[in-house]
Amino acid sequence: MSDYKLLIGGKLVDGDQRLDVINPATEEVFATVARASERQADEAIEAAATAFPGWAETPIAERQAKVAALADAIAANADRLARTLTQEQGKPLAEAMGEVAWTEGYLRHYATLTIEERTIQDDANGLVQIRRKPLGVVAGIVAWNFPLLVACWKIGPATIAGNTIVLKPAPTTPVTTLILGELCQAIFPAGVVNIIVDANDLGGYLTADPRIAKVGFTGSTATGKKIMASAADSLKRLTLELGGNDPGIVLDDVDVRATAQSIFNAAFLNCGQVCLAIKRAYVHDSIYDAMCDELARLAEAAVVDDGLAQGAQIGPIQNKAQYEKVKGFLDRARADGNVIAGGEVMDRSGYFLRPTIVRDVTDGDQIVDEEQFGPILPVIRFSDVDDVVQRANASPYGLGASVWSSDVDRALQVAGRIESGSVWVNQHIAIGPHIPMAGVKASGLGVEQSLEGLAEYTQLSVINVARGG
Ligand code: NAD
Repeated sequence: MSDYKLLIGGKLVDGDQRLDVINPATEEVFATVARASERQADEAIEAAATAFPGWAETPIAERQAKVAALADAIAANADRLARTLTQEQGKPLAEAMGEVAWTEGYLRHYATLTIEERTIQDDANGLVQIRRKPLGVVAGIVAWNFPLLVACWKIGPATIAGNTIVLKPAPTTPVTTLILGELCQAIFPAGVVNIIVDANDLGGYLTADPRIAKVGFTGSTATGKKIMASAADSLKRLTLELGGNDPGIVLDDVDVRATAQSIFNAAFLNCGQVCLAIKRAYVHDSIYDAMCDELARLAEAAVVDDGLAQGAQIGPIQNKAQYEKVKGFLDRARADGNVIAGGEVMDRSGYFLRPTIVRDVTDGDQIVDEEQFGPILPVIRFSDVDDVVQRANASPYGLGASVWSSDVDRALQVAGRIESGSVWVNQHIAIGPHIPMAGVKASGLGVEQSLEGLAEYTQLSVINVARGG
């Protein structure tokens, strides 16, 4: 028996296996959860397939009410969810409370969305309507950086649109998702939401199953490619939210102190483990030294600690594999540039690395070209705007980007030339449930959030009626 159970066909069940979950701040097991076998993954898909026709027929107002009820349940359980999130993911409690509040807010917004039928022709020659129907069973596959929020980015739109879902968290962060399962069990009809846990061994099983109509995925580009290949056989619909290497381009006319603070926040939120974090800061030559110094000052001042400790601003890296990967980036960055803040692993248990600023690096260096997904920010010098646009666009990724200037018109001109799904001016990671979120190139496929994102959980269908002669 484990403390946290799977949700399959409306029942909370033990797993055929169990999985230990490690607190990254202590490196100790803090929970043991149910882990599904292939047989249980199969049961979950079958339960979702069985529930689908009834849920698809359920009036949208009732589906919206269920999603709103989930938002209420999350609000009512905010403290438990946030503390658990900090223990399994590592983020400071204040950030965990923020993730819980965001999750509630996204669900509340999804609960207001409807899928309208549109008439595009209604005249003597004919009537043409566009309808949108649910797809069937969705597989929601989630990464470990925002387990609760991203799970609900799948559950909300999938169920509002009339689909049923089998959701799978990342193996290192299953606990809050299983608590979410407890909440869903009390709200949704049996089989509409199913939650299974794996040890990185059931994702391929889900994405290959012909009963799955769509995969909504957040994670690495490498896994996104595997999912695309696996989904090809049954031509599944896909939404892939993958990696990024967001540039922040700082023009010569900014207020250095204020901009440094904003860039620091956007680079080190969640210990840098954000798909849309600033991962490369391009700073104009005339303010380069001042900006590096200010970023270094902020990094030195940051309080790095167990997320449950009072005053912690940055927690540990989420898991050992990522910790080792980021340390490898640090070794290379030390050789390629100058580490002016941080750069030390901390003398304590836990996957802690102080926020690190590296200057005098450039394109072609690993820390600039590749996604570090951790607390290291490279600061790169530029002197020519055309050149920096070209360097920003040279990345295979294209998730987010930002341009910083006291002259918004000037910033907008640069912003329009950046190849990425989102480009912000004087801010970064400004997202919301009403704002489409998309990635170009290797950063993904399709759109999440907003009516555009909801449409991706539907199949377009045209009704075309003859009239007249
Ligand atoms: P991952 O892509 O390996 O895992 C994400 C999810 O996919 C997990 O639930 C995992 O179990 C599942 N999965 C693994 N193999 C699968 C397969 N063959 N088919 C279907 N699902 C499968 O990512 P990760 O190990 O969590 O992180 C590795 C890298 O991904 C990081 O270093 C980072 O660069 C990137 N990442 C990006 C995001 C993002 O939001 N874009 C989030 C976390 C990690």
